[in-house]
Amino acid sequence: MNVQGFYIDGQWQQPSSTNTFATINPATEEVIENIPAGNAKDIDSAVAAARAAFDHGPWPKMTGAERGKYLQKMADIINSRLDELSKLEVLDNGKPYPEAKWDIEDTAGTFEFYAGLAKELDKGVNGNSEEIITLPEPGFSSKAIKEPLGVAGAIIPWNFPMLMAAWKVAPALAAGCTMVLKPSEVTPLTAIALGEIAIEADLPAGVLNIVTGLGQDAGQALVEHKDVDKLAFTGSVPTGSKIMAMAAHDIKNISLELGGKSPLVIFEDTDIEKAVEWIMFGIFWNQGQVCSATSRVLVEESLYPALLERLKTEAQRITIGEGNEEGVLLGPLVNKAQHEKVLTAISRGIDDGATLFSGGKRPQGHKQGYYLEPTILTDMDEDSWIWQEEIFGPVVCVKSFKTEQQAIAMANNSRFGLAAAVMSKDLERCDRVAKAFRAGIVWVNCSQPTFVEAPWGGYKHSGIGRELGKWGLNNYLETKQITCFDSDEPWGWYIK
Ligand code: NAD
Repeated sequence: MNVQGFYIDGQWQQPSSTNTFATINPATEEVIENIPAGNAKDIDSAVAAARAAFDHGPWPKMTGAERGKYLQKMADIINSRLDELSKLEVLDNGKPYPEAKWDIEDTAGTFEFYAGLAKELDKGVNGNSEEIITLPEPGFSSKAIKEPLGVAGAIIPWNFPMLMAAWKVAPALAAGCTMVLKPSEVTPLTAIALGEIAIEADLPAGVLNIVTGLGQDAGQALVEHKDVDKLAFTGSVPTGSKIMAMAAHDIKNISLELGGKSPLVIFEDTDIEKAVEWIMFGIFWNQGQVCSATSRVLVEESLYPALLERLKTEAQRITIGEGNEEGVLLGPLVNKAQHEKVLTAISRGIDDGATLFSGGKRPQGHKQGYYLEPTILTDMDEDSWIWQEEIFGPVVCVKSFKTEQQAIAMANNSRFGLAAAVMSKDLERCDRVAKAFRAGIVWVNCSQPTFVEAPWGGYKHSGIGRELGKWGLNNYLETKQITCFDSDEPWGWYIK
């Protein structure tokens, strides 16, 4: 990839320093590319471009339909580069090619969806989603309009690099905001490609700006920048908490998509093969590096022994390898730090009393690359660290339960509340349990399928706000009331 600097003000700009960071292929542990490491000065240039484009440029004043045309063009370019972008994601992140292809298809789909929603903004009484408000007081009329929030700063993680960028860039631009995007330093390549795509789509200068760099430098400078009106963050709880505290200084509007330790509750009437498939997909796709991964599996007591054995057999059959190899279901973890972190977590779980039922080590024949066997842990205490904390790897914790009430209580006994899932042939029971979960995303008889139309986000420590669907667009809109007094008579405060 030809990395030409930062995408700022509609073109590639030279970094202000010669500092770089390496991005690594997790399958080979080799450096792919040295990437410019942006600092506060680079962020300042990017924010200045976004500010000028918002305050003086055409973008926020265009109709939604006009903005939608640019977003649709970006979707079309992404689709035309599907294979190449999918391979880039495999190289940088390690995920299997078919999953990378889903990501890129969904990235294009996200731009396409928000191109459509941008058009919807033009509806209402007189554009801008105008909505008439009926007031009880004679002489007064009122309406509410939606307006773009301003300059948005987006900070994203490494697990779905291009898709996480799309979840923020597409709705922000559809709403009429301008944006500075800081991708993860672990997987910057497809975000750089997004700069190329914006240029090819003729996106007006300054509407989107992309600065690669480390969290504590470029990331922090973006969070602290006084000309940023909104921060949209996806990442870990500790970083999210820090960002929330920093954003408080300037009362910045903020949305946070954070971690999880999501439960999957399986009742005894569930078909065992279906249960195994969704448990495995729920924790092993993307190497378990998924915020919504169903990493705590709760199985009704009578089904527990048979299900565990079946799960072990299938987990041990998973094909592990480099993401571009045919038939691979589990690639390497994203980097050395993550590999060590997950191995340490497994040891800690075992030290605390959990049983290693399957996996738990580097697979045979994979001396190089950050590979890890699909891992099943059992017999841990409900309040143990391994049951309660996010591991972010292919590690599933399984426990049994006796009653529906107990399952709900165990599922909700978590500081997180991102996702939850339930499986049973009894759909009334599924509905009851789904409503009892304290989580923002609930799957019934499945785990993980995600649709751009439906709201995404968590309760409790899993975040604030919702992405995707119309909720995702609202993240980037302000609501204004315009109230008008029209009467020949005085209102009567002092003139009677
Ligand atoms: P992370 O918090 O380490 O980093 C995320 C981003 O924040 C990176 O771009 C990083 O450079 C930046 N950053 C780090 N320190 C910063 C600082 N002080 N100021 C500003 N920016 C800073 O998270 P990660 O390891 O990249 O991602 C994994 C986490 O993301 C997991 O906890 C996962 O659950 C979560 N996640 C959540 C969702 C969701 O939708 N809820 C989706 C994907 C990932």
